[in-house]
Amino acid sequence: MKHIVVIGAGPAGMLAAGTAAEQGARVTLLEKMNKPGRKLVITGKGRCNITNLKNWEEFSPHVHPVNRYFKPAFYHFSSEDTVRFFNGIGLPTLLERGSRIYPASERAFDVADALVQWLERLGVDVQCNTRVTGFVTEPGTSSRIKAVRVARNSDSRPRNFSEAVTLPDGADENSTRGTTGEGSASAGEGSASAGEEWEIAADHFILATGGKTYPGTGSTGDGYAFALALGHRVEPLFPTLTALMPVRYDMRLKGIQLRNVGLELVVNGVVKQAEEGELFFTDLGIEGPIGFRVSRNAVIALNSGQQVALHLNLKPALTREQLLRRWERESDRKPEPEQKGEPVRQVGAKQGSSAVDALKLRGFMPGGLVGPFTKYVTESGMHPVDAMQQWVFPITSCEGWRRAVVTAGGISMKEVDSKTMQSRLVENLSFAGEVLDLDADSGGYNLQVAFATGRLAGSCVPK
Ligand SMILES: Cc1cc2nc3c(=O)[nH]c(=O)nc-3n(C[C@H](O)[C@H](O)[C@H](O)COP(=O)(O)OP(=O)(O)OC[C@H]3O[C@@H](n4cnc5c(N)ncnc54)[C@H](O)[C@@H]3O)c2cc1C
Repeated sequence: MKHIVVIGAGPAGMLAAGTAAEQGARVTLLEKMNKPGRKLVITGKGRCNITNLKNWEEFSPHVHPVNRYFKPAFYHFSSEDTVRFFNGIGLPTLLERGSRIYPASERAFDVADALVQWLERLGVDVQCNTRVTGFVTEPGTSSRIKAVRVARNSDSRPRNFSEAVTLPDGADENSTRGTTGEGSASAGEGSASAGEEWEIAADHFILATGGKTYPGTGSTGDGYAFALALGHRVEPLFPTLTALMPVRYDMRLKGIQLRNVGLELVVNGVVKQAEEGELFFTDLGIEGPIGFRVSRNAVIALNSGQQVALHLNLKPALTREQLLRRWERESDRKPEPEQKGEPVRQVGAKQGSSAVDALKLRGFMPGGLVGPFTKYVTESGMHPVDAMQQWVFPITSCEGWRRAVVTAGGISMKEVDSKTMQSRLVENLSFAGEVLDLDADSGGYNLQVAFATGRLAGSCVPK
């Protein structure tokens, strides 16, 4: 019986481990945190958007940077297979907004629990608080792994899944790793070791250590250093599905959520992407579904030194003429009786006929937006109607690893056989999940990438 070691008990590693066990392998799953799936339990705001029920044609545009590398894994284990799989292991699911799948209980903890119980039933040896610190290759060759080196984390207290997950602030933010020698990677957050290190030998290894966002969940980017040490190329890493911080951000915007608005990503003065939907202003800047959707291209542009701006359209359903007519109609109206006592603040006074008061603006936008919008109109000298359809936010930076949702970049798919997830360089190594140079939009796509690549890696291990 072959012995398979899987590194990282996130969704990708758990699927890989269980699948390899189903094939008859003896499987050891190593996890440095005190429980498997620490990131999984915070997904989807604690509800876990498990997958997105689309066929390949509709799913693939949401996968980056080169979706064809994900195609074999998706065909091997599609979104429909994911739903069938979870229902089969005792987790009922529900469908939302046409294609998004959640656990019927709407508790991400239940997804992690279901996976852990599945692993238990299959006899997978799950070793938590066990941090892989490096790989040991066969003497005289770097293309075959003999063992992983592991260390015990000092915090080995058993905990329940349902315990609240607290994320330490800023752990490991901006850490970078260059090319290192074999086994020189260290495990960042939660890495306090009791000093003892030992080796676990196996026939085959699956690396599923995730990305490096939300490092408090255990995903601190260790796998990239391991892959580099084994000779693999790691494409440049950057945070995606992340908040974008405007220049001189008006903190009064914090907490405002907008529906049915338009957002354009403008790079060096050219519109690169246009989206419509929900946008949130938070303490970190502009985020929410459409903020996240443009964030990948925005971060790429920022990283290459280009000028980035977001143009917010508060009234995308109206033409300028329609909005202007509405605006002028409102001008003729008298303020509502209950509003009479409120002080009238003049806005856009430079425009003469376009001068507007705060009361009037309330007919066009949520109250919390009026102050910041008034400031913008005053400073820009724009007509309020134009400002409503093109509120320009120059962007300075993005939120980094600490609170970005996903890591883009990673182990180059050019060096991975996407039909098996096996390394093209190291004969007994496979990869799965976010550690790879595959990332996706928000909406259940990233977990599908993790589940499908994990499933494929686990099913292709040597028998
Ligand atoms: C706040 C948030 C919400 C999200 N919501 C959704 C959502 O609703 N739907 C969706 O599709 N995606 C969502 N995602 C993205 C999704 O969670 C990830 O893409 C997915 O978890 C990646 O799975 P993975 O198994 O590759 O990596 P991870 O989940 O990161 O798991 C990797 C595991 O490896 C372990 N590990 C790392 N290094 C070592 C080491 N040296 N030794 C031993 N173990 C190690 C880590 O502790 C971790 O448990 C969300 C992400 C975040 C941060």
